[in-house]
Amino acid sequence: MTEHAPPIPDKPPADEADVIVVGAGPSGATTAFYLAQSGLDVLLLEKSRFPREKVCGDGLTPRAVKTLVGMGISVTEQDGWVRNKGLRVIGAGKRLELPWPELASYPGYGLVRTRHDLDETLARRAQQAGARLHEGVTVTAPVRSERTGRITGVVAKAADGGEDRTYRARVVVAADGNSSRLSVAMGLPKRDDRPLGVAVRTYYQSPRHDDDYLESWLDLWDGDRLLPGYGWIFGMGDGTSNVGLGLLNTSAAFGNTDYHALLRQWLKGMPAEWGYTEENRTQPVRGAALPMGFNRTPHYFKGLLLVGDAGGMVNPFNGEGIAYAMESGEILARTIAQALARARRAETERVLAGYPRALDEAYGGYYALGRVFVKAIGRPGLMRFATKHSMSRPALMGFALKLLANLTDPHGDAADRLVNGLSKLAPNPE
Ligand SMILES: Cc1cc2nc3c(=O)[nH]c(=O)nc-3n(C[C@H](O)[C@H](O)[C@H](O)COP(=O)(O)OP(=O)(O)OC[C@H]3O[C@@H](n4cnc5c(N)ncnc54)[C@H](O)[C@@H]3O)c2cc1C
Repeated sequence: MTEHAPPIPDKPPADEADVIVVGAGPSGATTAFYLAQSGLDVLLLEKSRFPREKVCGDGLTPRAVKTLVGMGISVTEQDGWVRNKGLRVIGAGKRLELPWPELASYPGYGLVRTRHDLDETLARRAQQAGARLHEGVTVTAPVRSERTGRITGVVAKAADGGEDRTYRARVVVAADGNSSRLSVAMGLPKRDDRPLGVAVRTYYQSPRHDDDYLESWLDLWDGDRLLPGYGWIFGMGDGTSNVGLGLLNTSAAFGNTDYHALLRQWLKGMPAEWGYTEENRTQPVRGAALPMGFNRTPHYFKGLLLVGDAGGMVNPFNGEGIAYAMESGEILARTIAQALARARRAETERVLAGYPRALDEAYGGYYALGRVFVKAIGRPGLMRFATKHSMSRPALMGFALKLLANLTDPHGDAADRLVNGLSKLAPNPE
């Protein structure tokens, strides 16, 4: 008689999974999508319910478009996406329209979409791929091995009450955004030596709602000091503009700025026909932080992997975070899929330890350069000098766009090679 192996259950126990992903913003949803595609059992825990609002500029560069396309998301105008051709920069009394560069690596257009829609689209995409999304579930603490301190699961609370619930997995991903309570509970606070931005935004009814360029204003003044940061106006295509501004923590003004007052003052100088007035405001002014240049490390620590804002992955040059949240999600998911396929724990560990290195290869040099940049423009004279001189040189601004938006081909033109070369040269301490 042959011996039969015990039957494999159809479904794993509800509270166990190969991977738990905490937070279903762009980073968590993308991680869960690629993990599920690799055939892993993924629990995606999200404290809110979709669709939900999220404070953001709603602007997507060609980098972000590429990540959306990579996930098989249709980004046509019929599906509600608003396309843009490039970036319009206004500063030092000048106005330049810079089309997105023509590259093999990235599409030649950007998009605008509310986070209300974008985040739900990504979360549903992860679900379609097979991730088990639990909405209205707030993770309150890690579960740790008493012996090793390693994370083995999480404790969570459901929004509709009831007992705390424990979920267990082989690895846990912190995709819970800027404040990443899970990382903090594991002993990973933010790094004070890395850049941080703060930004506020709101929406106004405006005839400029169908602008086909993202618009960026470099003239944010604190008295006679030019501040390191910028204001933005992005047409939402639905009758409103998303209008906001952000500053970097490398300026003396950072800690003592009234952001709402700065926004009002900036908008006061706009033509009345654009409609950026109190009567036309459709949402409250709301703000949040932008964690930049790897401001939380290490990205792998005792079984916990950090992705997106939780790992401080916003681009220090331009405050863009969605593309990096999604890209890091893909890098992470591919690493975990390889790691969990290894037979022995030591091998799994070796593969997981490669995740911080993969991130460093993708962004380490560029973010190091970004950190030098934000320090430099934190000096009031330098920001003014850079704005004045670059705005009168369109060719230089074309190069600046590639640098600031991180849009180059690996073997592209001279500007691409210069940006890529500078990223390699920047000092990049751990
Ligand atoms: C004002 C402002 C404007 C911005 N504008 C742009 C822009 O135009 N373009 C751009 O690319 N980037 C922009 N950014 C940055 C961008 O918003 C972030 O980089 C991006 O949201 C990061 O995605 P994430 O998935 O890592 O984190 P998040 O989007 O913050 O997602 C985290 C998720 O985790 C959930 N969560 C948190 N804690 C828990 C918990 N304990 N349990 C369960 N779930 C939890 C949250 O509900 C949320 O859904 C802006 C940021 C700000 C503040």
